[in-house]
Amino acid sequence: MGRICVLAFALFAATLGTLAPATREPFTAGSPEPRLKIILLGVAGGPPATPGIAGISILIEANGEKLLFDCGRDTVNQLVTVGVNQRKIDKVFLTHLHSDHIISLPDILLTGWALGRKLPLRVWGPDGTKSMMDDLLKAFAFDIHMRRDVDEKFPGEGIRVVATDIREGVVYEHNGVKVTAFLVDHGPVKPAFGYRVDAGGHSVAMSGDTRFSENLIKHAAGVDVMIHETGPTVEQLTAKGFTAKQAKQIVNHHTPAAQAGVVFSRVNPRLGVFAHGGGRAAVAEASKTFKGPIEPGEDLLTITVGDKIEVSHHAASLER
Ligand SMILES: [Zn+2]
Ligand SMILES: [Zn+2]
Repeated sequence: MGRICVLAFALFAATLGTLAPATREPFTAGSPEPRLKIILLGVAGGPPATPGIAGISILIEANGEKLLFDCGRDTVNQLVTVGVNQRKIDKVFLTHLHSDHIISLPDILLTGWALGRKLPLRVWGPDGTKSMMDDLLKAFAFDIHMRRDVDEKFPGEGIRVVATDIREGVVYEHNGVKVTAFLVDHGPVKPAFGYRVDAGGHSVAMSGDTRFSENLIKHAAGVDVMIHETGPTVEQLTAKGFTAKQAKQIVNHHTPAAQAGVVFSRVNPRLGVFAHGGGRAAVAEASKTFKGPIEPGEDLLTITVGDKIEVSHHAASLER
């Protein structure tokens, strides 16, 4: 290994600091200290493409399970960046069907299969999820037919989809990991869900897209980590070309940072995190109400929840 390589590795290790060993160990049911690992694959808010920031997607690992929550733009690239092969993703939970939360679904479905997924892709989401997945299979029928029946002969089971239109309640429970869906309030976008994951005595809640929601506060009670969205301002949206009327509508379907601070203070997690909007200004606003730690949210931020909560920034994010 040349000097440059050694230096590069040292820099990378320094970026992860003392957290490197904890974030690399596999999570197994027999781990002495059960932990949850949360990776913000992408934190962008809304449909506009923002170079260098991936669309909203959160990967949660616990006890050998890999659970993907939403899959906005670039999700598959981000999975590769954190060393997760797409074929390992066979469980996807959707908060709602806005395009910026689901636009990577075909990529996960088809690329994961092409790279060796042998199990069906399981997808949970609001009403419309099942028919959307049926339609996706139709849209890509040519590719599926060629690779399954004619050319590569990939196993048919890997391109099967098992989709469920969910209701509020426990939607998945396996290997000591429980996923609970709860209704949030995303204006006319109904139903829209948030999710809570419990594993090994630790927990995380994700708001999905919502305005201030009492139901979210109820279901997130007692979690270690609360990940909350925050909306754009009218000024930010009009600068991107939305009309004033559209901008007001959009803002009205999300949670201003100050209100997210109220949610954090009532849920009282060990760590608050912004995703799908956020940044330092949002943290400053929310911190007026919530006195605990808040992360502004950035792509590839990794949070390990055990007796301690450890936060690490990925080298690729810091280079941006
Ligand atoms: Zn959204
Ligand atoms: Zn939305």
